[in-house]
Amino acid sequence: MAILVTGGAGYIGSHTVAELLAQGERVVVVDNLRTGHRSAVSPDARFYEGDIRDGAFLNGVFRDNEIEAVIHFAASSLVGESVQQPLDYYDNNLFGTHSLVRAMTANGVDKIVFSSTAATYGEPESVPILETAPTRPESPYGETKLAMENMFRWCERAYGLKFVSLRYFNACGAHPDGSIGEDHKPESHLIPIILQVPLGQREHIGIYGDDYPTEDGTCIRDYIHVMDLANAHWLALKHLRAGGASDIFNLGNGTGFSVKQVIDLARGVTGHPIPAAVSPRRAGDPAVLIASSEKARAVLGWQPRYDDLSTIIETAWQWHSRHPNGYGD
Ligand code: UDP
Repeated sequence: MAILVTGGAGYIGSHTVAELLAQGERVVVVDNLRTGHRSAVSPDARFYEGDIRDGAFLNGVFRDNEIEAVIHFAASSLVGESVQQPLDYYDNNLFGTHSLVRAMTANGVDKIVFSSTAATYGEPESVPILETAPTRPESPYGETKLAMENMFRWCERAYGLKFVSLRYFNACGAHPDGSIGEDHKPESHLIPIILQVPLGQREHIGIYGDDYPTEDGTCIRDYIHVMDLANAHWLALKHLRAGGASDIFNLGNGTGFSVKQVIDLARGVTGHPIPAAVSPRRAGDPAVLIASSEKARAVLGWQPRYDDLSTIIETAWQWHSRHPNGYGD
C-alpha cells in the first residue's frame, strides 16, 4: 500500500517524500504545482499534477492506487497574503481539505497526518508553548489551519477518521544530500532571505523591528530543521498504524534565537559580512515563539537530530549556494 502526500512538491512536502522513501514506504504525490516544484519530487514517487479541490481527480488517484494513509501539506501558507485574501485561504485550505477528506471517506482511507502551524496559537500567554495553550489565530492562515484540525475531530466522531496534526514552528534548512531545498517565490522567510545577501541577490537584510521586549530587541523564534519535521511525519504515521489515538503535537527545537543571532550565525557559516539594517516591525509578529515539543518526544519518540542552528543554516547554505535560483522553474 502507498502513502498519499498532498503538496509533496512543496518545501516540507518534498523533504517528507524523501524521508518516507528512505524509510521504505511507497509514495504517491498530488500537487497542483502552484507553489511546488515538479523537480523537488523524487522520481521514486508516483506523481499526479492536480488540485485537491477537484473531487473527480482525487477519486481517480484513490482508485488507481492502494492508499493506506494521507499526509496532507497542500495549502496556502503566507500569513500576510492570507490577511489580504481570506477567501482564497478558506477556499484552498478549508475547502481543499474538505474535498480531500470526502475522497478519503469515500475510498475507505481513515488515517491522515496533517501539516499544521504555530500560527494556530497567535500571541502566546507564556513560552514555551504547550499544545494545551489557547488557540487565538491572528490570520486567516492560522484560522483555516485550526478549522481543519477541528474538522478532523468531528470527522473522527462521525466517520472514524484518525488524525495527527503537527504544529510546526520555524521550518528551515535543506536535505543534507543537497538534492532538495527551500524555493519560495517570493521568499518571505528569514534564513533564505539572509542567504540572498552572500548570494549577491540583495544588498542587506532588513530586520523587522529591534524594539521588541527581548534581550537584543529582535524577535525570537524556534528554528527546526526540515528533515526533523519530515521524520516526525513518518513517526506520526507509525503512531496511527499502531492504533495510536488522534492527537496534536508541536514540533520545534525548544530553543529560541533572535533575528540578530540568526544573522550572526549566517555570517559565520557563509564567511560574508551580511550587512543588516533595521526596518519597521512587520504586522502580526509576536515577540517570542518557542515550542514545547515534549509531547512529540514522549508519545511519538521524536528526537530532532539538528539541534544546532549553525548546522541547520549550513544545510540551507549548501542548497542555496549551489542552486541560487532554486529549482529554476
Ligand atoms: N524577519 C526579519 N526580516 C526578514 C524576514 C523575517 O526580520 O526579512 C523576522 C520576522 O519578523 C520574524 C523572524 O524573522 O521575527 C522569522 O520570520 P519568518 O517569516 O521566517 O517566520 P515566521 O516567524 O513569520 O513564521
